Amino acid sequence: MPGMWGRAEGQGMNRLFSLALLLPALAALFPADSAAWELQLPTVNRAIFSDDPSAFYMYTDRNFEGVKSQPWTAGQYGFVRDQKRTAAGVILTKFHEGLDIKPVKRDGKGVPLDLVHPISAGTVVHVSTEPNQSSYGKYVVIRHDWPEGPLYSLYAHLMETRVRTGAKVGPQDPVGRLGYTGEGIDRVRAHLHLELNLMLSERFESWHASRFQTPNHHGNYNGLNLVGLDLARLYFELREDPALTLASFLGRERVHHKVRVPAAGKFPLLARYPFLRKGPGAANPESWEIHFNRSGVPLGFHPSSIPTGEPVVVWVEPSKTYHAYLTRGRLSGSGSTATLSSSGLSYLSLVTGRF
Ligand SMILES: [Zn+2]
Repeated sequence: MPGMWGRAEGQGMNRLFSLALLLPALAALFPADSAAWELQLPTVNRAIFSDDPSAFYMYTDRNFEGVKSQPWTAGQYGFVRDQKRTAAGVILTKFHEGLDIKPVKRDGKGVPLDLVHPISAGTVVHVSTEPNQSSYGKYVVIRHDWPEGPLYSLYAHLMETRVRTGAKVGPQDPVGRLGYTGEGIDRVRAHLHLELNLMLSERFESWHASRFQTPNHHGNYNGLNLVGLDLARLYFELREDPALTLASFLGRERVHHKVRVPAAGKFPLLARYPFLRKGPGAANPESWEIHFNRSGVPLGFHPSSIPTGEPVVVWVEPSKTYHAYLTRGRLSGSGSTATLSSSGLSYLSLVTGRF
């Protein structure tokens, strides 16, 4: 359904929904699954699909070895920030979990005016209106009950929020206005920081309380508990294949390292995202190997016949530089071996639910 990507078609779809309300029988013509992956862009900025992505992504101010620049590429999802000169060349070590979308409309003082809409229908699960309580500034999280498990879109640095927790929202309902609240952002660099996430744990509060002295104002919707997916790739791949599944989408992520963990108990994450359970259905595996991409997105839980008493990295993509630079500090070592750092162990505990 490539038409869904156009603004006009999006409104057309809305008319369809209205019709479906009037004529319930009509709704039966549209299988429920067909709505599962309809994604729209959250603002009027559509330049991601143009041949000038610099019109879509907000730049950052970079100063590398005294050379100043404003690369738009740093507004993309991925390892796009903090250049470092290493044995493997100049690499980018800081991970950016969302897309930084430029405003299209500003008033005479340069204040952005763009409204922010949900990328898909869903339920508002978190509204943070106190800008100083998060580096996200004012932000909204929406849960999308998609067939393979709940996904959470997050809209940050908002000027104002326009929804309340619990509200059901459709593609045409504004959740807020693009702004510049939060850390490291000003009016000139105003943008929408947009994420699409998996949730790691529904017991995040207790994980957080045992590790931090500072309060958690955001319940399960703290950014540490949300794992961002490559949303730009998703937009593009859905254009080519509207029937794309989350499993096949994540299946195209590159495995960067594999961690073997003891087989004790079940993993709550697999109850929420059953598609992450891979391999033959061994009833009682000795252990599990969890595959991760570089940024730490869990890509699969594979049963293993090799026992282990504690979590251990059993494979890592070989590197000439420190694995810490490539993995947000979660792995230590270099070359073809790695160990979990303390932050890596801590993160793993959130993934496995063992804390
Ligand atoms: Zn951002």
